[in-house]
Amino acid sequence: MAFPGKDPIIIAGAGPVGASVALYLAQHDFNVVLLEKEKVLPEDLRASTFHPPSMDMLDEIGVMPRLIEQGLVVPKYQYRDRRTNEYAEFDLSHIKDETKHPYRLQVEQWRLNKICCGDLKNYPNAKVLFDHGVIKVNGQDADGVDLLVATPDGERVIRGSYVIGCEGANSMVRQTSGIEYGGFTYPEKFLVASTTFPLEKFFPRLAAVNYIADPDEWCVLLRCANLWRVLFPTKPGISDQELISDKYVQERMHALAPKKDGFEIGHKTLYNVHQRVADTYRKGRILLAGDSAHINNPLGGMGMNGGLHDGFNLIKKLVEIRDGKVDADAALDQYDRQRRLTATKFVQEHTISNKKAMEEKDPDAQKKRQAEYARTAADPVLARKFLVKTSMIQVVRESYEIQ
Ligand SMILES: Cc1cc2nc3c(=O)[nH]c(=O)nc-3n(C[C@H](O)[C@H](O)[C@H](O)COP(=O)(O)OP(=O)(O)OC[C@H]3O[C@@H](n4cnc5c(N)ncnc54)[C@H](O)[C@@H]3O)c2cc1C
Repeated sequence: MAFPGKDPIIIAGAGPVGASVALYLAQHDFNVVLLEKEKVLPEDLRASTFHPPSMDMLDEIGVMPRLIEQGLVVPKYQYRDRRTNEYAEFDLSHIKDETKHPYRLQVEQWRLNKICCGDLKNYPNAKVLFDHGVIKVNGQDADGVDLLVATPDGERVIRGSYVIGCEGANSMVRQTSGIEYGGFTYPEKFLVASTTFPLEKFFPRLAAVNYIADPDEWCVLLRCANLWRVLFPTKPGISDQELISDKYVQERMHALAPKKDGFEIGHKTLYNVHQRVADTYRKGRILLAGDSAHINNPLGGMGMNGGLHDGFNLIKKLVEIRDGKVDADAALDQYDRQRRLTATKFVQEHTISNKKAMEEKDPDAQKKRQAEYARTAADPVLARKFLVKTSMIQVVRESYEIQ
């Protein structure tokens, strides 16, 4: 397969995966075109947890100091029992010799997108086109791929030597290439609300990241620089309108932290939760990365992080292909195997089991799990092993071992 060809690499979607992939490729002298459907970058309430290996990767494109400046460095996080307030606290300094970033960074994902798109302006070999939504893949041949794109001037065909579909779970690149996205959708939706109210007043010794198990209503409390984000499951059968209403959100917040007056609520988002993986991450010159390739529940913060790990795996291979160090077909097929098997075998299993643990109905099983967390957190050897796994260091390393 010839590479790079005369046409640029097209990246569809300026989310965290597409924007960081585009920046890396631009920095490595590729011609790139980043297509974003929206007129301006969305500032939605989605991922806020960056794990250590993702930060180690993002360091390579020079964005980490600015991301850290806008976020909150979180060296410790907790697993709690909502009924008893018992907690086990994990200290990421146990993995300080495994990573340059032995902490979680809490910062909204859109801030990364903004930094990357801003930096892309410095590269004459990069174009960021807003208000350009991919409609479909028109076809591919031995040298490139044609995309039909909706632009402010009407529909037009844009050709790339490769196309990387990073436009999220509803990826048109994936759907119109006939790649299946098998898996399931949970019956309940998740609700995220943000508040500036200091929730730490209600919970003794609360960390900035807390997974709080409960048989009736588990929740996750995450702090960003200026606010708390609270994630709840909702009950199936209630209309979306009711679930997103002020009344419902206030009730859920008061059940968590009873206070006389209302909570000041910033964003609130209701969303469907899926566990899905694409059948392949590569079809000829069409490549998938991020949510367009896999999606999972947010418990453990592995969606965006896994997507960034896809992106960095792929871009390294594209550089090696361009430099004639590896065969294109072999390398891109290996990308598919390394990242798809990782999503299927680790991320899907891990996030499904995280959700089961949070909603455990059997009080004895819950008590046992909480005691196990406490025992692990208190033992430096066990804690280190646990953290290497949950911070995704181990799974990134194992993915590169897949032939
Ligand atoms: C409430 C919530 C909390 C989460 N928390 C975490 C967390 O803490 N940690 C974590 O790792 N993950 C988390 N996730 C998951 C995370 O948000 C996603 O995995 C991540 O956004 C995927 O990034 P992406 O770049 O692949 O896609 P997206 O972020 O979905 O970006 C896709 C981009 O493509 C654009 N686009 C869409 N269609 C087209 C088109 N046809 N043409 C051109 N552009 C298009 C979109 O406008 C968007 O800018 C969370 C998700 C939710 C909903």
